[in-house]
Amino acid sequence: MSYFRLSPDCLLAEGGNGAALYDVRNQRVYLLDGRAYRFLRHCENNGRVDEKECVTGAALLAQLESEGLGAFEPAPAFIDKWLPSSPVRPKGFLGPAPRYRMVYWSITNRCLLDCSFCGTEGTVTWQTCLTCLRRDRGRGDGPCIANVEETIGQLAKLNVETIVVRGGDPFLALDRLREIRAAVLRRPRIMLVVVSPGLARTAEEILDFLNSPRVRLLIVLFGLDAVTTRTVTGHDDVHERQRMLLGILRDRRLAFHSTMLLTEATRERHEDIADEWRRQWGTAPQFAECYEHEMLRRGGRFVIPQPGAKRLAPWLSPREFFWRIQNKPCLYGQFEIDLGGSIRPCPGLSEVCGEIRNDDLRRALMARTLYDRWWSMSKSSVKSCSNCALRFACNDCATVEILGAADPAVKQAYCSYDPDSDEMTHERAWSPPEFVKILRG
Ligand code: SF4
Ligand code: SF4
Ligand code: SF4
Repeated sequence: MSYFRLSPDCLLAEGGNGAALYDVRNQRVYLLDGRAYRFLRHCENNGRVDEKECVTGAALLAQLESEGLGAFEPAPAFIDKWLPSSPVRPKGFLGPAPRYRMVYWSITNRCLLDCSFCGTEGTVTWQTCLTCLRRDRGRGDGPCIANVEETIGQLAKLNVETIVVRGGDPFLALDRLREIRAAVLRRPRIMLVVVSPGLARTAEEILDFLNSPRVRLLIVLFGLDAVTTRTVTGHDDVHERQRMLLGILRDRRLAFHSTMLLTEATRERHEDIADEWRRQWGTAPQFAECYEHEMLRRGGRFVIPQPGAKRLAPWLSPREFFWRIQNKPCLYGQFEIDLGGSIRPCPGLSEVCGEIRNDDLRRALMARTLYDRWWSMSKSSVKSCSNCALRFACNDCATVEILGAADPAVKQAYCSYDPDSDEMTHERAWSPPEFVKILRG
């Protein structure tokens, strides 16, 4: 007869279906069935363990002990849980000072292409922020924020690290883009990234614009070859022109980023695309993915990050793990300024949190929704995930999560795991990645 307590750096999290044991320090997750969870909870409550009466339970505890996740104790023990960097948040009085990492800025709604999925209602996009997708293709270009210098001065005072100009093709608003570039380069640290299909100017003009280590291009691509690119964009020469631009960037050793926007014509070939891309350009492209809502209702599934299921994202440190419990990595520290000066949490989300047109930037940012609703969002605040034992090891584009919480078709399209079902769906639907193990009671 003895007691068993989990190590201070292990967190037991219950879900609607089973539970998970997080080994925070060693970056591992153990999925527990309901029986294993109840038994461990009993142990955590300093319940006695009778090894003769519960042989499978004892075997489970022995396995946990052998993996360094807990220890048998001769008597009830008080374990002080290890929360080394859990942020302290005095309720309603003080919060952590905001750290502004990144700002997305839209300066034009124009583009030489007219992709069918761009700027239309009824499209669901995973990782809009990595693409040139517009909010509303029918909208004109004005009115824009008047004072670029003033705005960038304020962003610099907020210690913003990166300004990403995106939405449509910013090279079609070249004068404004140059103004932004000049204002950025007058400050010592800010990086400028321009997201573009790279078609609105000649390669030499684009290279001339990029001529600083603090100015980068993120080129958005639509296909693996001329045929798929034409299918997606409707234009014959897009693939060749993009290849030519990338070839020149590579030959001149200029760093660039790339996003492959997957659609109907390309999603099934995304692995070939990644391989081919690595072979040609020596790096893996980022992926974003677009779906018509109607197709999702008819059973369509996002292939990124994993077909019909959810790829979990291991945390890199205990600090990140505890931070993730309270925040969402992709939303914290950023906001979007749209063409007319509305502030939104990011390019994929539509809620307006402030207006620069009426206020200066600092005043517009005082709106509490940006911090309270979006920067403080975590998996526990997403309705369809809040009851999931895997929520601390899972991370995704908040756009699809929020749409998924309202529409089961979207939820099913990016994660087939149902935290409220009575079976261990994850075992049926997907093979857990290496850092996830399954334990039974
Ligand atoms: S290239 Fe980008 S901005 Fe232009 S229409 Fe296509 S998705 Fe929209
Ligand atoms: S997306 Fe939500 S329900 Fe699916 S595994 Fe992640 S946290 Fe769980
Ligand atoms: S929710 Fe995150 S990943 Fe999705 S578009 Fe916004 S910033 Fe990008």
